Amino acid sequence: MSTAIVVVGADGRMGKTVGNLVTADLAYSLAGLVDRAEHLQALSCAGCPVDDNLEAVLPKAPGAVIVDFTAPSVSLQSARVAASTGHALVVGTTGFTDAQMGRLRKLAEKTPIFWSSNMSVGVNVLLKILPGLARTLGEGYDIELVELHHNRKKDAPSGTALTLGACLAQARGWDFGKARRVSRDGITGERPKAQIGVQAVRGGDVVGVHTIYFMGQGERIEVTHHAHSRENFAQGALRAAAWLAGRTAGKIYGMQDIFSQI
Ligand code: NAD
Repeated sequence: MSTAIVVVGADGRMGKTVGNLVTADLAYSLAGLVDRAEHLQALSCAGCPVDDNLEAVLPKAPGAVIVDFTAPSVSLQSARVAASTGHALVVGTTGFTDAQMGRLRKLAEKTPIFWSSNMSVGVNVLLKILPGLARTLGEGYDIELVELHHNRKKDAPSGTALTLGACLAQARGWDFGKARRVSRDGITGERPKAQIGVQAVRGGDVVGVHTIYFMGQGERIEVTHHAHSRENFAQGALRAAAWLAGRTAGKIYGMQDIFSQI
């Protein structure tokens, strides 16, 4: 049986990619498209509802999983609606504040919610192996992160860079909130040991590049992930949607929950 998908942000860069993959893959079926009113003309879906209001779409899509790549306030609204109808929700949006993430966590107690700042398989495998690298190299190797994205990205540093940084800080036993250093300018003094620099570069149509530097005395290791297209994120979101259907509410699930079973 195919997994029915309602796409929120359907006319966006990610929403369009998700919609195209759903249409091309028999494992999924399109159950609804949602975007702002001025975007609806650009959207079409054979036999499924197209609307600027998720609440109007969901009664016509029982059992569907919502996939939302929009903005934090919009995804939170999708989560509120999903919590009231019991639909499962996959959120790919980044840029949530801690308070917004807290609200999402509360709503995840009522309906199954999945969130990942990066849905790609490659990045999630990196999250599994980087802690070992950080621990094996030891504190003699300084860690810095540089991320590149297209010039229309709205948040910085990227959600992925922050997730990678938090995972590396945890491996070193540091609080990432204190260890992160997102910019340097002027007389900064010597670099403290317990620091992870995170720099954001913006330009052109770069889909997403993340490099982690481990810099020691006389050598350094660079680990880079290049996203070649948005398809790998969309594939990951759909894999998450199929995985989430039938799960119980209780916590925000993430890619690590899928990979822990592999
Ligand atoms: P985008 O601006 O191209 O698309 C966002 C879409 O949301 C637009 O079509 C917009 O009209 C729509 N939207 C805005 N308000 C809405 C509302 N109230 N109701 C319905 N739709 C609404 O952005 P994008 O490049 O597709 O990225 C979207 C989000 O996904 C960003 O936060 C980005 O960082 C994130 N992202 C995450 C991953 C991942 O793997 N998790 C990958 C790529 C992008």
